[in-house]
Amino acid sequence: MSDKQIPYKIYLEESELPKAWYNLRADMNNKPAPLLNPETHKPMTASDLSGIFCDELIAQELDDTTHYFDIPKEILDFYKMYRPAPLVRAYCLEEKLQTPAKIYYKFEGNNTSGSHKLNSAIAQAYYAKKQGLKGVTTETGAGQWGTALSMACSYLGLDCNVYMVKVSYEQKPFRREVMRTYGASVTPSPSMETEVGRKILAEYPGTTGSLGCAISEAVEKAGSNEGYRYVLGSVLNQVMLHQSVIGLETKAAMDKYGIKPDIIIGCAGGGSNLGGLISPFMGEKLRGEADYRFIAVEPASCPSLTRGKYAYDFCDTGKVCPLSKMYTLGSSYIPAPNHAGGLRYHGMNSTLSQLYADGYMEATTVTQTEVFKAATEFARVEGILPAPESSHAIKAAIDEALKCKETGEEKTILFGLTGTGYFDMVAYQKFNDGQMENYIPTDAEIQASLDKLPKID
Ligand SMILES: *Cc1c(COP(=O)(O)O)cnc(C)c1O
Repeated sequence: MSDKQIPYKIYLEESELPKAWYNLRADMNNKPAPLLNPETHKPMTASDLSGIFCDELIAQELDDTTHYFDIPKEILDFYKMYRPAPLVRAYCLEEKLQTPAKIYYKFEGNNTSGSHKLNSAIAQAYYAKKQGLKGVTTETGAGQWGTALSMACSYLGLDCNVYMVKVSYEQKPFRREVMRTYGASVTPSPSMETEVGRKILAEYPGTTGSLGCAISEAVEKAGSNEGYRYVLGSVLNQVMLHQSVIGLETKAAMDKYGIKPDIIIGCAGGGSNLGGLISPFMGEKLRGEADYRFIAVEPASCPSLTRGKYAYDFCDTGKVCPLSKMYTLGSSYIPAPNHAGGLRYHGMNSTLSQLYADGYMEATTVTQTEVFKAATEFARVEGILPAPESSHAIKAAIDEALKCKETGEEKTILFGLTGTGYFDMVAYQKFNDGQMENYIPTDAEIQASLDKLPKID
């Protein structure tokens, strides 16, 4: 098929939307290591997890063998409000770069939460509702996850309690107000509402909080309130499962036009969008049906895959969540301020970690000024104002396209454009004013944090 016939945007018909999520773990010979109980160091069982998480989500979390999970009709109906997400051929960016490469991106920012997180938020809220719960608790850093969850909860009539890292609560008042508009209660963390919050405030008066602290507060609130459970927007395998809708739609759209990507790129915070985008393609690679290059892009300030250690670690700074075997910088690692808040996580999803350890995926880092330069270049030609997180993938895609320009290769590059950056204008302002700085941790800093990893035999 000649290039001319490929439209700027490839949409699927409603009838072509995925009806089941794909569980990549089912096709892996080397399964990701099991979650461990933080006290006994034995594999987590469903009953260990049932006080914190919703039952059906626990079943999805622990399931390494079921290939497909049907998407319940209620969730499919919600998806139809903002999906399919467009798959865009970046003709204008190609022209600007003068590259023979063909660039595609899957745009997940077409909903009010402004990111892919809504794909899992609606699923998690649905299972909580189905279990007859009153509400859910969660943490949010930059605010995308809290926004997505409050939208899903208001749709289903669930109470939503968000612990928002205090510094973001104060610096991102508009994000906070979107959540409250959708009926969520938003508490700056650390707060006086929980035991762990009071303890932290007594120890560190005036602290502006951290994601790890907000997680600990949300978990405590869920555990101590009848009819509440805790939900998490990234890192877990259940989240990657829900996000497979991104990859399944992308693959269906590409198959429609006979397009096969050579390189698939995604930004990596906890790994959910990257894992979701690559899932069906990685499945083909694992089954020996096709070959692709997969590239995870991390901030140079928080390089878990590229400079971390593959080891069991806590998923949270408060050390209340299960232990996960993953590439980690250590749960006590506090990344330097980086404007891509969604990528400031010390670890990585366990499935992606195993695939990376087994050589199925590559990883690279980029600095934040390079990222904003790429973001600006992209915004000017493609129109969309990208989230700083997403722009990590843009930067890597541009680099690959420029390599093609040198070699003359007509590679097909696909990347995930996870969201829009309208709430990140303070970061854009810093960049525009030439005041943005890069921070790259030293080996000694990373080692100091890795020295505190839990000892598991
Ligand atoms: C949260 C977020 C990310 C990173 O999370 P993953 O779980 O790694 O996908 C990336 N982009 C946007 C816009 C986000 O909100």
